[in-house]
Amino acid sequence: MPRSSRSAIDTATPGWQQELAAGINSVEELAGELDLPASLLGGSHAAGSQFPLRVPRGFVRRMRRGDPRDPLLLQIIPTARELTAHPGFVADPLDELTRLRQPGLLQKYQGRALLMVTGACAVHCRYCFRREFPYVEAGAAPGTHALALAQVARDPSIQEVILSGGDPLSLSNTRLHALLRGLEQIDHVRRIRIHSRTPVVLPERIDTGLVTSLGNCTRPIVMVLHSNHANELDATVATAVARLRDVCATVLNQSVLLRGINDDATCLADLSQRLFEIGVLPYYIHQLDTVRGTAHFRVADRRARRLLGELAARLPGYLVPRLVRERPGMPAKEILAPVLHNPQQVT
Ligand SMILES: *Cc1c(COP(=O)(O)O)cnc(C)c1O
Ligand code: SF4
Repeated sequence: MPRSSRSAIDTATPGWQQELAAGINSVEELAGELDLPASLLGGSHAAGSQFPLRVPRGFVRRMRRGDPRDPLLLQIIPTARELTAHPGFVADPLDELTRLRQPGLLQKYQGRALLMVTGACAVHCRYCFRREFPYVEAGAAPGTHALALAQVARDPSIQEVILSGGDPLSLSNTRLHALLRGLEQIDHVRRIRIHSRTPVVLPERIDTGLVTSLGNCTRPIVMVLHSNHANELDATVATAVARLRDVCATVLNQSVLLRGINDDATCLADLSQRLFEIGVLPYYIHQLDTVRGTAHFRVADRRARRLLGELAARLPGYLVPRLVRERPGMPAKEILAPVLHNPQQVT
C-alpha cells in the first residue's frame, strides 16, 4: 500500500500496537532472525521500495530457521521477480476504482457492500491484490466513513456490510467501535462481516477491548480470516480465534492459491484440518488476481482445479474451500472448483 496510508494506524495505546510498531521492515534484520545470509534470502531492495517489507515478529517466529523456501517467508519477502513485467498483470485488474459507489464504498454483489476502512495492514503480502490500490484517493480515510455509512443507510438493498481494506483490524478499538455503532443504526443492515488477516499475523490484536466491542454488537458478526498455510496457525492464533468464536456468529477462512507456497494437495489438506482444529471453516481459496508484480505466484487453472479435486477426494465437504476467481462484471465470484466428474459416466 502507499506509504501515506500508514498514518491510518492509530499510534497511542496498547500491547498490540507496540507489537505492530516493532515489526520487521528490513531484509537484513529478517535474515538475521532466520539465521540466513541476506544473499540467500533473495530479498530485493528495489521491490521493497515499491511495496515495503512489513512483518510482525510473532509471524517471523513461525518461520523455519535457515530455510529460504519457508512458505511463510515467501509470502512476505520482496523479490526481484516482482519487477518483471508480464502481459495481463496490471495495477487494478478488477477494475475496482470504477466500481466505487462513492469514496470508501465498493459494491459489486447484490445485498453486500464492502467498506474500505483503511489502507493499512499488519503485514505486507507480496501477492496482495490491492498492493497498488490508491487507498487515499479511493477514500479509505476516517473522514469518508460517515459518508459511506450515509450511502449504506440510503440503500435498503444492502443487507450485509463487509469491513475490509487494507485490514480493518489495523484500526483502533475506538474507531472500530464507532463504525459498528454507526452500522447498527441502520435497520436494513442484518449482518456485519470483517475480512482480516490480523488475527493470524498479529493475534495480540484480539484484545479485551475488541472482543467487548464485537460482543456488544447487536448484529451477527461474520469473521473471515486469511491464512494460507497450516504453519501460520500456532497456539497464539488458536487463542485469538477462541476469543473471536465467543463473540462472532461464525469464523471462516479464505486463502490465496500461491505457487511454491501452498499449491499442493497435502499442504491444503493440512491447512483445512488445522483450521478445523482451531474452530475455523475454510470458505474460499482464491485464484490470484492478475496484479502487476505477482505473476510468479500464479497457478494455472487446470492445475488449480486438479488440486481442489484431490482435496475433495480426501476431505469431508465442509473442509473443502471453493476455488474462486473475481471477474469484473459477474454477479458473484466465479466458482472454478471443486467440480467432480464421474469417470464412469459417458456423456
Ligand atoms: C468478495 C467480495 C464480496 C463478498 O463476496 P461473498 O461471495 O459474499 O463472500 C463482496 N463485495 C466485494 C466487492 C467483494 O470483492
Ligand atoms: S493482509 Fe490482505 S490487504 Fe493486507 S497486504 Fe495482505 S493480502 Fe493485502
